[in-house]
Amino acid sequence: MQTKIILPEDRIPRQWYNIIPDMPGPLAPVIHPGTMQPVSPDDLLPLFPIGLIEQEVSMQRWIDIPQQVLDIYQLWRPSPVFRAHRLEKVLDTPAKIYYKYEGVSPAGSHKPNSAIPQAYYNKIFGTKRIATETGAGQWGSSISLACQMFGLECTVYMVKVSYNQKPYRKSMMQLWGANVIPSPSNQTHAGRAILAKDPDSNGSLGIAISEAVEDAASRDDTRYALGSVLNHVCLHQTIIGLEAKAQLEMVGDYPDVVIGCHGGGSNFAGIAFPFVADKANGNNVRVVGFEPASCPTLTRGVYAFDYGDTAKMAPVSKMYTLGHDFMPPGIHAGGLRYHGASPLVSQLVDAGIVEAKAVHQLACFEAAVQFSRSEGIIPAPESSHAIRGAIDEALLAKEEGKEKVILFNLSGHGHVDMAAYDDYFAGKLNDYDYPEEAISESLEHLPKVG
Ligand SMILES: *Cc1c(COP(=O)(O)O)cnc(C)c1O
Repeated sequence: MQTKIILPEDRIPRQWYNIIPDMPGPLAPVIHPGTMQPVSPDDLLPLFPIGLIEQEVSMQRWIDIPQQVLDIYQLWRPSPVFRAHRLEKVLDTPAKIYYKYEGVSPAGSHKPNSAIPQAYYNKIFGTKRIATETGAGQWGSSISLACQMFGLECTVYMVKVSYNQKPYRKSMMQLWGANVIPSPSNQTHAGRAILAKDPDSNGSLGIAISEAVEDAASRDDTRYALGSVLNHVCLHQTIIGLEAKAQLEMVGDYPDVVIGCHGGGSNFAGIAFPFVADKANGNNVRVVGFEPASCPTLTRGVYAFDYGDTAKMAPVSKMYTLGHDFMPPGIHAGGLRYHGASPLVSQLVDAGIVEAKAVHQLACFEAAVQFSRSEGIIPAPESSHAIRGAIDEALLAKEEGKEKVILFNLSGHGHVDMAAYDDYFAGKLNDYDYPEEAISESLEHLPKVG
């Protein structure tokens, strides 16, 4: 019985899959936060290198992965697909459960799949320094690694609550040469404005984005980098799904359902988009994103134009949103606490092509522990949402007596998140439904577009 399905190094995909030409309709325009008019590529040049701006709107279905990016990808790619024999046994399910494991990257998650090409396109553009933000620290560590490999300087605004909760993420970033600043900071107007109102602010991803965007926009040698949400990030992550598809082909399987956890949408897009493409060709594979009930962007937000950040400096996109001033509760899956979602994933959810479900934190940790005790790997708290989803599908298959094939993305390991597991075992974690009043209040502050 095969357990690991390994794609040889010479079969690493050489192109990313761009879903834009296959979307169910034209993309909504991206709006300039100042003028409230659609942005032009020139408006984005202070923030991003041209190579990434082009990818953001490209109508080319297959985009070549540059050789220098492939060379670095090969340090951990192709990543393995595992058949979860032991988990299947524990669940006593007729379903076959496969998982694609992205925790094998140096940073321990899928995020380097986009950090590496982002650093590359900045390098060839002439950028000297990257400013970015990080929530739980996975993106910050991934972009620090990537900047180190391409000889770029890197400044990371890290959400203060994570900076204090996750000191080892900070250590990883510093080891890879980055300058890490707790956010809100006194280094930017945006940070100072927040601190003036609330000196003890714990920060949020929205605030940290404001600081990084301001930093990048105010320096010629600096560009901004975002670890999720944007079209080019989803594009880079499709290498996950492309490999997984080839790996399942090697064992003669094809999934009935494809599952990922959903924060800003990048790892979900990565595993899902290559399969969504098959749906357009008449294949009825289900594709489901799992998000926390405490930050229920896709399941309880609205599909509307909103700012990408709290200080309204980042571009305005049409996406599912809880409102740019949404203040997430301090749940332990820090990477899933963004108020918005990828515009591409949002459009697919709105069109009914992709499904979204919300799950509670305790049920996710329960799934993560069951997974660790059967499969061995300790998942990131974010990834546990996908595991919950996969286990529930497998249990449903058992009820229905169906031999379903389930594929989920295990987006990262939890080695730097053991404090979250300690809290879970100490009974310190609670379930939390974001209150309807708070959502409606935030939604009153959406920008008026058009
Ligand atoms: C950042 C992160 C996520 C959430 O981000 P997406 O853009 O939604 O993928 C999920 N899992 C891990 C391990 C992460 O680091």
